[in-house]
Parts: sequence; C-alpha cells; structure tokens
Amino acid sequence: MSFGIDDLPVRDELRGKSPYGAPQLDVPVRLNTNENPYPLPEPLVERIAERVREAARNLNRYPDRDAVELRTRLAEYLTDTSGHQVGLANVWAANGSNEVIQQLLQTFGGPGRTAIGFEPSYSMHGLIARGTGTGWISGPRNEDFTIDLAAAEKAIAENRPDVVFVTTPNNPTGTAVPPETVLALYEAAQAAKPSMVVVDEAYIEFSHGDSLLPLIEGRPNLVVSRTMSKAFGAAGLRLGYLAAHPAVVDAVQLVRLPYHLSAITQATALAALEHTKTLLGYVEQLKAERDRLVSELLATGYEVTASDANFVQFGRFDDAHAVWQQILDRGVLVRDNGVPGWLRVTAGTPEENDAFLDAVRQLKKEQS
Ligand code: PMP
Repeated sequence: MSFGIDDLPVRDELRGKSPYGAPQLDVPVRLNTNENPYPLPEPLVERIAERVREAARNLNRYPDRDAVELRTRLAEYLTDTSGHQVGLANVWAANGSNEVIQQLLQTFGGPGRTAIGFEPSYSMHGLIARGTGTGWISGPRNEDFTIDLAAAEKAIAENRPDVVFVTTPNNPTGTAVPPETVLALYEAAQAAKPSMVVVDEAYIEFSHGDSLLPLIEGRPNLVVSRTMSKAFGAAGLRLGYLAAHPAVVDAVQLVRLPYHLSAITQATALAALEHTKTLLGYVEQLKAERDRLVSELLATGYEVTASDANFVQFGRFDDAHAVWQQILDRGVLVRDNGVPGWLRVTAGTPEENDAFLDAVRQLKKEQS
C-alpha cells in the first residue's frame, strides 16, 4: 500500500473525509454547479485586460490590504440595488463567499463553539465549520423545504449555537426565506446566546423578492453574505463579500490573512462592477429561463420545489442517483446533492435548457 492521508498525523475530524466538489465532467451540457452560462461580454473582457495591465505594473508591491476602492464600489452596488444605504465601513470582501464564511466562522465559531444550519442547505457551511473546529448542528426543515420556524426556534433555544446560517434563496432547494422568519430566528438567536446570524444571499439577484440587507440596520449580529460568482457571472474570479455593522468588518480583520485579496482580483472585480447593468440584464434572462424550467418540468409530470434561485430542484425519484446517471447518459450533467428523491438543475442558456428538457421528457416517456 502506498503512503496516504491516513498515514499522516492529520486532525481526527478530517480522517476518512473527502474534499467537497461536484464532478467536473467533460459533457456537452453542464448544468450542475449553479454557474452563470453566459461568458462575460467582450467590452468587459477588454476592460478587465486594461485594469489588470495597470495592476500588473505594480505587482512588485502588495495589494491594497483593505481593498478600499473595491469595497466602496460594492457598497454602492448594494445601496443601488437594495435601497438601503451602506458604505465602505459596512462591507468586507474575500476570495469567494466561501472565504467570507470561513472568516466569519474563524471569528465567531471555533473550538468549543457551534454553528447551526437548516438542512438540506449549502453543505459547505457544515464543512467550513468542521475545518474551523466549529461544532455543526443540523437543524430541521419542513417536508416542502421551507424552514419549520417553531422547530428551528426550539433547536436554537436548546443548542444555543454561536452562529446561525440562513440561506435565502436556499441551495439546493431554491427556497426563499421570508423576512419575518429571518427576524424571528434572529430574535431566537439573541435570546439564546447572543449569536451571529449569517444570511447567505449567494443567489439573491435571482429572487422574486428583495434582499434582506436592510435588516442589518440596528442588528449588529446580522451579516448578509453575497458573491460575484452567480449574478455577475464571475465564478472564476473568486470574489465574495459581506454587509454588516462596521464592528463585524473590524472583527473579521482579526482573522483575515494580510493581503488576502490579490491586486489582480481587485482589478478584475472593479472592472466587472463597471458593467453591472449589462450583467444584471443576463440575470433577467436567467430568471425567465428558470421559470420556464419550472413550468416545463411540471408539465412533463415532475415535481418541482418553488425556486427563487438560478436552479431548480426536481423529482421525485425512487433512486435519484440512477436518474442523474440516465440524464448524464443523454449528455446533460445535473447535480445529485444527496437529497433523497431529488435532483437539481442549473438554469443555462435556452439551448442548454432545451437539451435538458428533451432528456427528462424522454425519460418520462420511457417510464410510462
Ligand atoms: N453560498 C451558497 C449558498 C452557494 O451555493 C455557494 C456556491 N455554490 C457559495 C455560497 C459560495 O460561492 P463562492 O465561494 O463562489 O462565492
């Protein structure tokens, strides 16, 4: 036997575990990782090249450690789109919202502390908790994947977690969480501990409803986390950010690595923000495609979970993984998130969605 991970003195909680990640398979239609299917428009590509060229001239120097220009522009974007005034002091940025979440757990979680999420939800919350030595508590959901408020409040009161994750719209189900529910969870979390409530809004631009950003007013323990990976079509950029009380922004700086955001990342994100209007135009197209996927899946006889995101959870299947394989055999990669009976498809271009719909219609025909 060759030398492997288990022969190394790795931490006990990492033993026997696998790294997170969807299969990156080379198939014609990839609708499995909630990416935006539209490549960045050419004028933006040119602007990125320009800004990166400028940044390259100073790569002998460390980048702006506080990413002031970028955070200022992100604050403007948030203010413009939510109607709630936020500024530089309210905003923090990192390499993807995964890193934002990691920094939050390093700051507010850690050994001897716990975090709770209402599952099924974004599994990285639990995995980052593990990576930061934070205990993980799996909270409940209703059958229809909405949050069971009474059960959630009870779980918070009993476990007194240090961090509460609320993902809206939720991944992988697409379920939006109403503001009243978030407010009730916030109150429950404050009564129990007090603890931090992290509202993960990675998909909020695709929602029928509004961002919960205005709720940070007067609630210093509420954090809204966002990303440029989805609506901005820039998953490859790795840029996530948060909005919260300035004290939260001060606190996460205790754990961030110095110069964590490269000058290239900052330059690229700034260029993308200059093209916000065009990029949000694609979001409108994707929302229409998401709604088309929902109605076509229902018309074909599948069950669908109401979606506010750029993906749709559909089922139900006795053996979801077998169906995942059958769809893959037809050249379309969707996601099996391990939710029994359900699969998830990301809204792609109209042509990609047609290919997916053809595949699932064929499957239905073969079954009947
Ligand atoms: N939150 C949720 C709910 C997600 O689904 C994802 C990505 N799939 C992320 C955060 C992380 O995204 P990123 O690190 O690319 O910003």
